[in-house]
Amino acid sequence: MTASLLKGKTALVTGSTSGIGLGMARSLAAEGANIIFNGFGDTHEIAQLQSATAKEFGVQTAYHNADMSKASEIETLFAFAADRFGGIDVLVNNAGIQHVANVEDFPVDKWDAIIAINLTSAFHTTRLALPYMRKKNWGRIINLASAHGLVGSAGKSAYVAAKHGLVGLTKVTALETAQTGVTCNAICPGFVLTPLVQKQVDTRALKEGLTNDEAKKALLADKQPSGEFVTPEELGGLAVFLCSDAAKQVRGVAWNMDGGWVAQ
Ligand code: NAD
Repeated sequence: MTASLLKGKTALVTGSTSGIGLGMARSLAAEGANIIFNGFGDTHEIAQLQSATAKEFGVQTAYHNADMSKASEIETLFAFAADRFGGIDVLVNNAGIQHVANVEDFPVDKWDAIIAINLTSAFHTTRLALPYMRKKNWGRIINLASAHGLVGSAGKSAYVAAKHGLVGLTKVTALETAQTGVTCNAICPGFVLTPLVQKQVDTRALKEGLTNDEAKKALLADKQPSGEFVTPEELGGLAVFLCSDAAKQVRGVAWNMDGGWVAQ
C-alpha cells in the first residue's frame, strides 16, 4: 500500500538504477513520490524498473540517462524534470563510484572521475534544484555521503576526499536555506552490499584466498562492529524520515547509519 507523505511531489534520485539509489527511489515511491530515475544500465531493464515501480506504488516514473560527471548533461536532466514534472521537490544525490589504490599509485583519471561524480555533481544538482524549491518554500536535499565522509580509510583518497567534501557542501547548503522550508542533510552509510562493495569483496577474496562469504565477513570485521551490512531499505527509511515534517529542523546533519563504524 502506498503512504501519502510525498504524494504529488517529485523526487530525483541520481544513480538509481542499482544499489542504494534504487532502495531510496522505492522508499520515496512508497510514500507517493513520482520518481525520476537516473544512472547507467541495460535500457530494457531500466524500462522494466520504471514501469514496475509505477505499477507497484501508483506513481509516475521517468528516466534520464545524464552522466553525472558532466555539467551540461545535468542541466539537460533538470530541463527534462521541469518540462515533465514542473521541478524537483526531493533531490537525492546518490550517484557514486569507488576506486581503491594508494595515493602515489592513484590513477589521475580515476581521481578526477570520483571527484566529478561523487562531489561536483551534487553542487550542480543543488544549484539547479534550489530556485524551484525556494519558490515553493519546500524541498529536501539528501546527500549520500558515507562513513568515509566522517573518517578515512587507507587506499580511498579520492572517495574520502569527495565524501568529506559532500558533508561540507551539505552544511553550507543547510545554512544558506536555514530560514526556508528547504532542508539539506547527508546520510553516511557503512558497508551496504551493493555492486560497489561486492567489487571490494571480490578483490579481497582473490588477494587472500577467501570464499565470497569469508571475504564479506573480513570486510565487515575490519570496520563495522555490528558484523552486518546496512540495507538500502534501512537507508530509504531514514530518507523518508528526513522528508517528513518531524525532520524540518534537522539541518546540515551528517547522519551515520553504519553498524557502529564511526563510534569506534
Ligand atoms: P552502485 O554501484 O550499486 O550504484 C551506483 C549508481 O550510480 C548506479 O545506478 C550507477 O549507474 C550510477 N552511476 C555511476 N556513475 C554514474 C554517472 N557518471 N552518472 C550517473 N550515474 C552514475 O553503488 P551503491 O553502493 O549503491 O552506491 C550509491 C551511493 O552510496 C554512492 O554515492 C556511494 O558512494 C554511497 N555509499 C555506498 C556504500 C556501500 O557500502 N555500498 C557505503 C557508503 C556510501
